[in-house]
Amino acid sequence: MTRDDATAHARAKKTDGEDKGSDKAPEQGDQGKQVPEARPLKGKTVVIDPGHNPNNRDHPDEIARLVDIGTGKKECDTTGTATNDGYAEAEFTLDLAHRVRSDLGKRGATVVFTHDGDREYGPCVDERARTGNEKKADAVVSLHADGAPTGNRGFHVILPAQVRDGEADTSAIVEPSERLGRALVDAFRGATGERPADYIDDGKGLDTRGDLGGLNLSTVPKVFLECGNMRDAEDAGLLTDPKWRGRAAQGVADGIAAYLTGKR
Ligand SMILES: [Zn+2]
Repeated sequence: MTRDDATAHARAKKTDGEDKGSDKAPEQGDQGKQVPEARPLKGKTVVIDPGHNPNNRDHPDEIARLVDIGTGKKECDTTGTATNDGYAEAEFTLDLAHRVRSDLGKRGATVVFTHDGDREYGPCVDERARTGNEKKADAVVSLHADGAPTGNRGFHVILPAQVRDGEADTSAIVEPSERLGRALVDAFRGATGERPADYIDDGKGLDTRGDLGGLNLSTVPKVFLECGNMRDAEDAGLLTDPKWRGRAAQGVADGIAAYLTGKR
């Protein structure tokens, strides 16, 4: 089930009666005294969706079940891809999700996961979308890494297309999701130095799709982030490096924060 991290990571250090006065980020740290933490995302709910589930591979029938994505039917979930050395996308997305949760928690956000690798399989893509909707999330980011042919490199963000079909109606989320997506591209690039994917049409790291249930069924701003290409040796070298994942997580958190604080 989904787990609500709430504010466990983010206990504010109160300095009662001190004359720091301002709740802005402090300019001078006098004598190394602890200063109040800036919590710009207090009151915001962010849903992080770690793509796939490491256990999906043991449940091929269950994850092949078709679910309604508005425009048609699609598999409940997939196993995701892996590097040539066998580092699974689902392991990557969970690790990155934990790092992002920790970072956003420190900034005051309430972070909810769609799953934490603690289920037999899934959740299905429709349930992943419902989690964001039910939590009335201010932003949802689905974390992934791609499985494109070797030689293709870089990261990209997938935005929801304008879709109105069956249960799907993205008309209210297309515009804010695009702002969220652009903020993520800028911040992810800034934090990692990675280039936008060289195999996505616009060359700017943005793709728009109407065939993903996780986006079609969302009623809150949501994007997918494909952090790199697991099938390319150079990108795989980044994705398997914990230090790089730390920078990637900071990029994701920075992008979400920029969107939520109206800097985008
Ligand atoms: Zn994926």
